[in-house]
Amino acid sequence: MNKIVNSSWTPDDSAELYGVRDWGVGYYDVSDKGLLTVSTGDPDSPVTAPLLNIVQDIRERGLDAPVLIRFEDILEQQIGRLNIAFKTAIDSAGYNGQYRGVFPIKVNQQCHVIEEIATVGAQYGHGLEAGSKPELIIALAHLESPDAHIICNGYKDQEFIDLGLQATKMGYSCFFVIETPSELPILLERSRALNIKPLIGVRVKLASVVGGHWNATSGDRSIFGLSIAQLIEMIDTLREEAMLDCLQLLHYHLGSQIPNIRDIRSGVVEACQVYMELLREGADMQFLDLGGGLAVDYDGSKTNHIHSKNYTVDEYCADIIDVVMSTLDPEGIEHPTIITESGRATIAYSSVLIFNVLDVASSAPGAIPDSIPEDEHPLLHSMKETLNNLCEKNMQECYNDAVFYRDEVRDIFKRGQIGLRSRSLAENLFLLVMNNILALSETAARPLQEIDILREQLSDIYYGNFSLFQSLPDVWAIDQIFPIAPIHRLDERPTREAIIADITCDCDGKIDRFTNMHETKKTIGLHPLKDDEDYFIGVFLVGAYQETLGDLHNLFGDPNVVSVRLHTDGSYEFADEIEGDSISDVLSYVEYQPQQLRERFRKIAERSVRQGQITASERQTIMKAFSASMQGYTYYEKD
Ligand SMILES: *Cc1c(COP(=O)(O)O)cnc(C)c1O
Repeated sequence: MNKIVNSSWTPDDSAELYGVRDWGVGYYDVSDKGLLTVSTGDPDSPVTAPLLNIVQDIRERGLDAPVLIRFEDILEQQIGRLNIAFKTAIDSAGYNGQYRGVFPIKVNQQCHVIEEIATVGAQYGHGLEAGSKPELIIALAHLESPDAHIICNGYKDQEFIDLGLQATKMGYSCFFVIETPSELPILLERSRALNIKPLIGVRVKLASVVGGHWNATSGDRSIFGLSIAQLIEMIDTLREEAMLDCLQLLHYHLGSQIPNIRDIRSGVVEACQVYMELLREGADMQFLDLGGGLAVDYDGSKTNHIHSKNYTVDEYCADIIDVVMSTLDPEGIEHPTIITESGRATIAYSSVLIFNVLDVASSAPGAIPDSIPEDEHPLLHSMKETLNNLCEKNMQECYNDAVFYRDEVRDIFKRGQIGLRSRSLAENLFLLVMNNILALSETAARPLQEIDILREQLSDIYYGNFSLFQSLPDVWAIDQIFPIAPIHRLDERPTREAIIADITCDCDGKIDRFTNMHETKKTIGLHPLKDDEDYFIGVFLVGAYQETLGDLHNLFGDPNVVSVRLHTDGSYEFADEIEGDSISDVLSYVEYQPQQLRERFRKIAERSVRQGQITASERQTIMKAFSASMQGYTYYEKD
């Protein structure tokens, strides 16, 4: 779409167009130089750096785009924010219990992330949630303080249980959360065999159902957790074994990204009732674990839309404390330690994926002669006439006519009645009519009915140097929306409307849904490429779930990852750099042996020498190129 360029464009206009100040929550902003910036530290005197400078500095060190940048300070601040918000809510309400968060490792298992969380979390007693044996091993190796809990969810076999029991003996606060009735007998048997008393939690299925993407985790048909009937059986078994005092924790998880605070409240109300009943049954209840669900406002709209949330972190904490107190106090029940398992909200903000644009497929029509040759097919003359007559009043009619003529032209081409050049001229004429209609329609009092379709169909395709399947799997799998914006040139009006395609050549490897306050847009405004300058686009809030869910579709591997720490003097440090997969790496993931591949290729090259197709020294050059490729990045590299 060619917007009429008359008034000037400011960085503030870009900030508004891309919603940066809404979803950026102070971490991301647009500078008056038109650069997208990251800010950390005290909101009153933040430390700020332009992303473009960071990307260029990373590049100078030999790590090319695409690159995933992790801002360690943001992760630290998010952990602090959650813990401080709970502390504030607890203090101001006069709550007698504590808050102890745990980070669910599955949300981002990367070593550097977990190390960071364990280090920063220590002061708050922030623990880890493990859903598998490898995750338990990670948790055991990172948590030192008994204040920080380990919550073991997921299926647990004997090996998992034995390890957890030994950890309990060593002084870890390691809870086994019973998710299915079959786990309990193994736990009891192993605890007798090892003579170690376990800390037991139980996950219940609540009747409360939430809205949003992940609502299948709530309600009767959720796959994990005990039904109320199974819970009663578990209590009876524990009582018979004289181990009811081991049951201390109640857990539920309504699902991730809960947009509506009402759903969160209603889950807590129901859980509190179960909690009190467990106490009455004789369990030594002390912990109420509300699971994850604290949402991220990806579109910045502050609504109960699935990509947003209608509450702040402070409200989330205050509401939970309020509901627990108002439910338990009338019964005179002691306040439990509140545990939440916030993953998404803790880690999402800290990562940005940055890629360069390789090419643009424009929807602009090719050259059209001033007059259509006399002997051209009459349909082409009709199309030209439509073009000439087009005005705001008749644009609907012209639209219908042009579509009709184009379809007719395609039909007669199929029947062999016109040639390729005539068909090409017709397609160009059609595109020009459509572009003109769209331009008219954008400013018309009564726009064309089909304007949305037209806008989408006439948008450019920007080819980004990244793999959607590797770096943004949720965009493909569950239509997740992430905020996207160019990281520079924000003082220029974006004159193109575009969708973004990745380089996997898969028709699903595209982004055609963008955040736009109260609706999703099918295109994004971008700038025309410049000849000698890279154009960098950032995809924001990608810290949760994307890194390990990604796959090797088309054998594009992990991108380069750089952890950045900002200093108060405005400088920054690359605290950690992880080179992305090389071609040889990804080939070995699918069981090829690089050495063997080279050997096979060498034999074929040698045959070519014998057959006189290449010379021996050409063979050497070819083999060198082959070997060099193996060591290269899987993404598009500039020389
Ligand atoms: C996935 C998961 C979480 C994390 O949820 P977020 O919405 O990312 O905070 C917490 N607890 C359990 C049991 C989970 O399965």
